[in-house]
Parts: sequence; C-alpha cells; structure tokens
Amino acid sequence: MSQSATHYSHSYLNLPRLCYQPSAPSHVSNPQWVAFNQTLASELQLPESYWLTDAGLGLFSGNQLPDWCESVAQAYAGHQFGHFNPQLGDGRAHLLAELHDQQGQVYDLQLKGSGRTPYSRSGDGRSPLGPVLREYLVSEFMHRMQVPTTRALAAVATGESVSRESPEPGAILTRVASSHLRVGSLQYAMVRGDFDTLAALADFAIERHYPELDSYGDEDSSQCITKGDTGNRYLALLEAVAERQAKLISQWMGLGFIHGVMNTDNTSVSGETIDYGPCAFMEAYQADKKFSFIDQQGRYAYNQQPSILHWNMARLAEALLPLIDNDKRQAVTLATATIERLPQLIEAYWLSELGRKLGLHQAGREDKPLIEQFLAVLEQGAIDFTLGFRMLTGEVSNHSHPHDIYQTNAQAFLEWRQAWQQRLQLEPVTLSQLSAQLNSVNPLYIPRNHLIQAVIDSAYSDGDLRPFIALQQALSDPFTQRDGLEAFATPAAADAQVTTTFC
Ligand code: AMP
Ligand code: MG
Ligand code: MG
Repeated sequence: MSQSATHYSHSYLNLPRLCYQPSAPSHVSNPQWVAFNQTLASELQLPESYWLTDAGLGLFSGNQLPDWCESVAQAYAGHQFGHFNPQLGDGRAHLLAELHDQQGQVYDLQLKGSGRTPYSRSGDGRSPLGPVLREYLVSEFMHRMQVPTTRALAAVATGESVSRESPEPGAILTRVASSHLRVGSLQYAMVRGDFDTLAALADFAIERHYPELDSYGDEDSSQCITKGDTGNRYLALLEAVAERQAKLISQWMGLGFIHGVMNTDNTSVSGETIDYGPCAFMEAYQADKKFSFIDQQGRYAYNQQPSILHWNMARLAEALLPLIDNDKRQAVTLATATIERLPQLIEAYWLSELGRKLGLHQAGREDKPLIEQFLAVLEQGAIDFTLGFRMLTGEVSNHSHPHDIYQTNAQAFLEWRQAWQQRLQLEPVTLSQLSAQLNSVNPLYIPRNHLIQAVIDSAYSDGDLRPFIALQQALSDPFTQRDGLEAFATPAAADAQVTTTFC
C-alpha cells in the first residue's frame, strides 16, 4: 500500500470562509480504542501507521492530529421539526481532511464528540459511548445492505464522563462520508443573502457528487437529463439530489428503518444516510411507528418519511432558487415543477424496493395493492417486519400451513399468499431462483434495538465489548443463516422491548 501524501486533500477549505470556522478538537484525558474498521481503513488507503497504534489513537481522539489534518467546524442552518434555525453548524464535530480510495473517490474524515466548536451554542461538544456504538453498528449494517450511508472508521473512549440524564462514559466516533454537505449547508448561505457562497457550495456538490451535471448550462452542452427543456445546472442539481434521496428513503422503508430526525440539517446532499441519532428498526409492523423521545408528534414516524422527504426537498428548492433563475417567478415555476413530480418518483422507488422484497423484479403501480395488503397483514397481526419478509422464502410454493410467524393473522395471510403466488407466476424465474432471490434481499439479522441496548448496557456496566463484537459479526452477513445466532434473529421479549430512543 502506498502511503503517499497525495491520498489526502481538504477541498472544503477552498470554499468561502462563511462555510466553516477553524476549530481544534479538545484534549481528552485517557483515550482508549473501542473499535477500528480495518476494511474501511484499507479502502481509504489510510496508512497502517494509524491502525490500532498510538498514532491512530492520537488521530481518532483528536489529541494529536497529523500534519495532513486541518481541523474545522462546518457551518449550516436547518429546519428542525419544521422550524427554521439559521445558525446551527458542527457543535461537536471536527472535519479533519479528505481521504481518497483507490478509485480516486474522495471521502471526508470527521470526528464526532470531539469537543466544543464556535457552533456549539449551549452544548458540551461531547458524545456518550452508547450513541457512538449505535452509530457504528447501524451505519456499517446500512452499508452492508447497500444503503448509501456515512461510515464508521473508528471509535475511541475518551476516559472522561459526559453528563446526560446521568453521567455516561464519553467517546468519539470517526465518521467517513462522501461529504458532510447538507441541505442546511445551502440554507445557511441562502438565508444570509450570500449568493456567491451559495453558488460555490452548489458547485462543490456538483463536482463532488454529481459530476455528470458539470457541463450543464454550458452553451454547447448537448446533454439534457432534465425532463423539461432547460439546461439549468442548479435545477438539475435539485432533481439529482431529490432522486437520490427518493431512492434512499425507499431503502429505509424496505428495512423498517426510522431515522427519527429528518431535519434539513440531517439531510445530505449526496443522498447518504447521515446523523444516526434516535434511529431504530421497528419490530412488530406499525405504519406510524416512532421511537424518538423528542418526536412527540410523530412528525418523523415510519410512514411519514416519504412526505417529509418531499417537504425537505422543497426547502432545498427554496435554497437553490437564487441560482436557478435571476427572475424569481421563473425560478419558482421551474423548481415547483420539479418538486411536484417528486411524490410520484418516491412512490416509484418505494414500489420497486418493496416489490423486490416480495420477489417482484419490476413492481409497478398495479402491484401496489399486493404490497399494501401484505403490510396490512403484518400490521393487523403485529408481525415482525424483518421476519415477516424473510419467512416468505418458505411460502413461495407452500400450499399448507404457513410459517409460525404469520400465525397471529393466519387467515388473512393465507388469502394474501394465494394472490401473491399467482402474481409470482408472472416472474421470469424458477421458484427456487425466487427463493434464493428473496433470501438475498430480505435480511435475517438486523441491529434490533434491544440487541443494541444490550451492547450498550454491557459496555457501560463493566466495559465488556464482547456483545458489541458478537453483534458486529452477526451483522457482517445479514442474509446467511448460521447456527448459534438465533438470538440475533429474534424479536425482543416483552420485557426487553425498547419503546423509546434518545439522542
Ligand atoms: P442533531 O439533532 O444531532 O442533528 O444536532 C443538531 C445541532 O445540535 C447540530 O448543530 C449539532 O452539532 C448540535 N449538537 C448536538 N449535540 C451537541 C452537543 N453535545 N454539543 C454541541 N452541539 C451539539
Ligand atoms: Mg445533525
Ligand atoms: Mg445527531
């Protein structure tokens, strides 16, 4: 592996100064390794001198940054639970540098929980170990499931305690993202009327995440992906972000994942899942399920996610208006047309994703009733979302008693199964191919809330990380049933259910 300095960069520093503030991580007293993602480190060409070494501990605790790092906090604004806050920003995160993978793809290296910054407001800049473990497990699982996401490179304990409801051990997560640009980053420049910075941020997004749009708006551009008639690169950016987000949210829906804080500052421009706070995977299916303690109204409940995405993309459209056209009315007309098409696009991705989980390789509108009826069967029977899909494998050609998982709503399931089996006959594959396909789409092992909670409890009570490692191992291959892992494929017992999550 080459260790040349050309694998590092820091292009965020080329943006106008409005976008960030210099800020160094605060010193921590006794850093200790909790986890290190060797596979990712290798992909990112991180020199082995940082792999579980003292130099690595210095880097990932923020105590001793190498000279290729330049620590800054990023500025952003955001709509939080529908209310605009013009002044957010990294209050407990430090952007250090960019690493390049072997294909030349660029990734941000960021510490989270690394101390106060100019954007901390009243916060302490710190993160407890529990949420660090949760983000590590869940984000790496999402990656395994091919859901675009930030990744976890390292976790270190700080040796200091963090004051929450009660004192908790502190930790720092090193997060990797294709960028940390959020809808709120653009809102920050827009609301300050700084349209040069707004354009610089939008161009940064295009160059980094949507290079295919780069020639857009050039006089001699022959490309035109916009369905309309315009060669407007910022309108094209809006469409491209909305499309990636539509696909992303459909993938969440397909996993029973509830993000929990879909604020515009937690909505990435790259289309990656970002900011794993009070997120959760639901067990018994309930369409309007929510977990987050702070989401009293259920604004970010499971079935609200598609419409919240639509709302968030309308906020992105507003932020881009000054770039889309000098004539505000014309800009609004163009952006509105894009935003109005979005629900249809979200539904198309949702149909495709949920259809795939039922073995339909190209689900269309005509399949919507079949999908919805299956979800109704799950909901009425309070059937586990993950296993409800997973156990369909055995039902593809079954004409007798269904799997036990459906017993709480057996009659309705049998009726549905008949319609499903009929629909499967239209699929151009054999039944055994179908079963294999289903098993490669519907995971058996997921990071269930009570499993994560047990990991945290064990780490807190006696520093025992073995449950963390065991869960990581189970999740490293979510699809292949293995002996001895039954506990990881079993919903929580009544007295172990996690009903509420906190950030
Ligand atoms: P979140 O809800 O995690 O997306 O955070 C919203 C805002 O609060 C962001 O600006 C965060 O940087 C900031 N924030 C969250 N927790 C802390 C903390 N412990 N200290 C300082 N800022 C924080
Ligand atoms: Mg956030
Ligand atoms: Mg957060």
